[in-house]
Amino acid sequence: MARPSRIPPQILDTMTRGARHAWTLEQLTADLHEGGVQADFSSVYRAVERLLGEGRLVRVGIDDGAPRFELAGEHHDHLRCVRCAALEAIPCVVDRAGLDAVAVRTGYTVTAHRVVLDGLCPACRQR
Ligand SMILES: [Zn+2]
Ligand SMILES: [Zn+2]
Repeated sequence: MARPSRIPPQILDTMTRGARHAWTLEQLTADLHEGGVQADFSSVYRAVERLLGEGRLVRVGIDDGAPRFELAGEHHDHLRCVRCAALEAIPCVVDRAGLDAVAVRTGYTVTAHRVVLDGLCPACRQR
């Protein structure tokens, strides 16, 4: 079993290598095992909590079952396959003028947004 303090850097490593864009805790545990890191689910959970607290990871704002986590970084939006739940990063799809119009209409100061486009990924389209 990996020592607890070694798990957070190994999580960041795994994510930086980028086999996927965002990970559920189950996927992260499995990928760590594949990379030879024997961390159990609750150690991975605690390590992810710690990395979230340190601002190194963020939770992807999608409610479709298990929460998914990704490396903190530049703002981007997401594309999700409704059949296989694949998740991809896409450049921001919201334009500044649209946000300004919302702010004017509602009186809100808009500070953030999360956009998820649903669709079928190329592999699922072929099935
Ligand atoms: Zn993302
Ligand atoms: Zn955006």
